[in-house]
Amino acid sequence: NNETKSPKIHAALLSSPGMGHLIPVTELGKRLVCDHGWDVTVFALSSGESKGDSQLALSSGESKGDSQPFEIVEMLPPDISTLIGQDAAVVTLLAVMMRAAIPVFRSALAQLDAQPDVLIVDIFGVDHLEIGKELGIPSYVYCASNTWFLSLLVYCPILDKEVKGEYLDRTEPLEIPGCKAVQPVDVPDPMLDRSNQQYHEFLLLGEKITHGDGILVNVWEDFQPDILQALQNQDLLGRIIRGPIFAIGPLVRPPTKELSTGHKVFDWLDKQPRESVIYISFGSGGTLSPDQLTELAWGLELSGQRFIWVIRPPTSTTGVGSYVGNTDGTGDISSLFPAGFLSRVQDVGFLIPLWAPQVDILRHPSVGGFLSHCGWSSALESITNGVPMVAWPLYAEQRMNAALLTEEVGVAVKPKALPTNDTIGREEIKDLVKMIMVEEEGRGIRAKAKEIKESAHRALSKFGARGYSSSYGTLARFTEECKGKRLTNE
Ligand code: UDP
Repeated sequence: NNETKSPKIHAALLSSPGMGHLIPVTELGKRLVCDHGWDVTVFALSSGESKGDSQLALSSGESKGDSQPFEIVEMLPPDISTLIGQDAAVVTLLAVMMRAAIPVFRSALAQLDAQPDVLIVDIFGVDHLEIGKELGIPSYVYCASNTWFLSLLVYCPILDKEVKGEYLDRTEPLEIPGCKAVQPVDVPDPMLDRSNQQYHEFLLLGEKITHGDGILVNVWEDFQPDILQALQNQDLLGRIIRGPIFAIGPLVRPPTKELSTGHKVFDWLDKQPRESVIYISFGSGGTLSPDQLTELAWGLELSGQRFIWVIRPPTSTTGVGSYVGNTDGTGDISSLFPAGFLSRVQDVGFLIPLWAPQVDILRHPSVGGFLSHCGWSSALESITNGVPMVAWPLYAEQRMNAALLTEEVGVAVKPKALPTNDTIGREEIKDLVKMIMVEEEGRGIRAKAKEIKESAHRALSKFGARGYSSSYGTLARFTEECKGKRLTNE
């Protein structure tokens, strides 16, 4: 009934489990509602492990004073214990859980007062595009990562046919049409072992991501424009993707309205000199091995630099670095620090257990570097604040992100060996930290970080610059496309 139909477009946004997925989806929701007049409902599948991921998002302190302008419907995860083995890898777990949640999402949608006009899912939600088809509404995938990763993801089903043997055993890089080649050591985790179920799940994601009406990606038009063009060029990757690509980034959480969120880290930061502090965090769930944690403590101390370190209990079972999600409690970490470490660094170091107000920390003028696992949201939060990075990739597509930030964008340094394979020693950590913070050698990287910040800010302004459409403009174009499709549907 057209008379009762709201003039606003109503989108259902679906997030897979985990803060690293929920944060970018809610950010997209905010932009659609606040800048483009949409109605949005976010559906978040909780992981079942940590209590209420979406509650965490709301209570993390950073969203206070910036309340969500939409409802977040939390959906409980289906029981998949009979569908996967106990040692299932992360991508298998997420893909299987999301697939099994199709009936859960379908019935959650049925509870809405009216059917949504548009469906937007994250990359693990590609199986839910079929719900969009059932409802006869346009459906899009939001890839909250960068275009280089997206290009490998969509091209992987072709590589699967062309390349024999393990990717890691190759000496030649993997060529992707129109894009920077990917070094075998940098491939995302699910491509490391082709006999593992998560590799097949990754191939399915790569295939199904093209089944929607288009793809939204978290970069902006003049960030790696060659890759964006390759994704849209019918002679290159455009023939695989078919639908349009919307470069809507950099979507990052805005700082809280009042800078001081009440966290005592800000009182400490206020007393430190400008750009003198390196912030260390491994994302929403990254951990180090006990040995690596000890070496990092040594490296930080030897560097003589001020630091904030978001610290999690180590994992001893899963090697040097891994994803454990949000755990409760900090465990006893102090025994892993070098003897006397805490008292020696008490004036220069600030330890935060488990979770820090990252966006506000990175924005603080005293912060001059970020030792990061290179999750894409963290990378963008660093870039939009002009903060150079020590790239310390752990899992997922982070090795690719680290290579991109180091070799192409020029805003980061990375260890010689990948932290995924080897423990990085204290001397190298000391050198990397000093290089990014103070050494002459790092000057160009620090300057580049400030330059890219300007480019990111231009993209976030309402009007594009130098012939590029801003991300605001791209979301406006996306809005028009969705409105057009709604009219055709009526
Ligand atoms: N984050 C945070 N505080 C922390 C750790 C992480 O606010 O202590 C936020 C961070 O700002 C980012 C997100 O969690 O927005 C992590 O996403 P990212 O893509 O960087 O990594 P993932 O957690 O998905 O590996």
